[in-house]
Amino acid sequence: MANATTYEDNLAAATGYLARFANAPLPHLIGGEAMLSVSGETFANQSPIDGRHLGDVSSGDAADIDAAAKAAVRGFGVWSAMSGAERKVILHKVADLIEEKAHQIAVTECIDTGQTMRFMGHAALRGAANFRFFADQAPAANDGQSLPTADHVNYTTRDPIGPVGVITPWNTPFMLSTWKIAPALAAGCSVVHKPAEWSPFTAHLLAEIALEAGLPPGVLNVVHGMGETAGKSLTEHPDIKAIAFVGESSTGSMIQAQGASTLKRVHFELGGKNPVIVFDDADIERALDAVIFMIYSLNGERCTSSSRVLIQSSIYDEFTERLAEKMKGVPVGHPLDPSSVIGPLIHPRHHEKVCSYQDIAKEEGATVIYGNTWADAPEGGNWVTPVLYTGATNEMRIAQEEIFGPALTAIPFEDEADAIKIANDVEYGLAGYLWTRDVGRAHRVAHALEAGMIWVNSQNVRHLPTPFGGTKSSGIGRDGGDWSFEFYMETKNIAIAFDTHAVPKLGG
Ligand code: NAD
Repeated sequence: MANATTYEDNLAAATGYLARFANAPLPHLIGGEAMLSVSGETFANQSPIDGRHLGDVSSGDAADIDAAAKAAVRGFGVWSAMSGAERKVILHKVADLIEEKAHQIAVTECIDTGQTMRFMGHAALRGAANFRFFADQAPAANDGQSLPTADHVNYTTRDPIGPVGVITPWNTPFMLSTWKIAPALAAGCSVVHKPAEWSPFTAHLLAEIALEAGLPPGVLNVVHGMGETAGKSLTEHPDIKAIAFVGESSTGSMIQAQGASTLKRVHFELGGKNPVIVFDDADIERALDAVIFMIYSLNGERCTSSSRVLIQSSIYDEFTERLAEKMKGVPVGHPLDPSSVIGPLIHPRHHEKVCSYQDIAKEEGATVIYGNTWADAPEGGNWVTPVLYTGATNEMRIAQEEIFGPALTAIPFEDEADAIKIANDVEYGLAGYLWTRDVGRAHRVAHALEAGMIWVNSQNVRHLPTPFGGTKSSGIGRDGGDWSFEFYMETKNIAIAFDTHAVPKLGG
């Protein structure tokens, strides 16, 4: 069960798990063994709630990555030799265990990230769904196409690319890591996972679960550490054939450069500044709820959040007033309290960044409307007030830069062409949302928006067989359905002659 009923139950469960790492550093998991860094180095993990020391974490470097890559090479030999049907059984077992431990995963994630139980309960179960979905795909992962000609039969096969590196961020760390690791494993790859240093705990839980489910040692390895050391070494390691990365666009650029000399294949899910366009014929009530949900859920630390709301000028004042009213009702509170929507942000540095935009917005001439605070918020935490920026233009930094917090920028537009121009005038292109009852306009605008995913009259409702990913600075490649296997596998074409075609004779 993912959602316990009370704050007290949630706290007891979280405390129980975290006690494991109170006196000994969180280890790496390499070749099925928990181990400390070769250097003995650790780093401290702090609570976003009150700044408390949650525990020390092993800080990996090139030596630990090398050990993990070697274990992954051995693991690949075993795992890729198994049939898809055998992999399916083990991956379903992983999903079973995630479901069984979903509450423990969710409360741990809340304490480690500041995200609230309301969303982390679902996120843990979504991790299980990711494993189930790709488990079912595993038996057909190698299947190819038949492309015959008059003289040859051509057919394609797919083989796993080899050991891969998975590098993940801190916003919903457990769910996002399953989103990468499940398809990699289903394809037959082995994995070295480098989780975000600000949220290391649930990566360890996932690797433990995988071992318990019967995943052979070395198939899923975890190395903790900083991006510039452990992450960089992983992207440079010659035994690692591809890097699946979720994180900031600027980090994606660095990874591409770091992986160049070993010709790494890369898959990037990066930042966003996603528009939600509300036309004056929209179902206003549903649009209001969706806009609020897509920016104030998950602390606004969500790549697909609709952080810019573009509102037709005829309804701009009314819509922003209603937004402000609803936003002021969004509860801020302890992440383990089931009634909280917004918790503290992940880290003091991120907190400072998100809050700095309030001054930037004022300097730029926008109006800042503040939401709730939590009067009982513990000292030392990264607590925030959700905000709505009105009177904004698309040139402002609050409209161009990814704030990655509970901060919504409202911009008016005149007509369809104006909406499309403003929506596309950012460096990002991850998702776009639009609200209208005009079917023709819905199609026209959906086609014109520069983004990898469009939702019409909807918030982000994910369907796992559909492609997920971004354009422009928001990413390279798509995940979901068969798109994931295209990344984690190599396609081979086999051409076999009927012995009917002419073979050129050169000489003799
Ligand atoms: P980040 O880029 O700072 O860090 C992500 C990971 O990269 C961490 O594990 C970090 O240690 C590692 N890293 C940092 N430098 C590295 C380097 N030089 N080499 C290798 N690894 C390195 O991102 P973040 O702040 O943790 O996460 C927030 C960002 O993630 C936001 O921009 C958000 O939009 C994005 N995100 C995108 C998606 C998506 O699907 N498009 C989903 C979630 C988050």
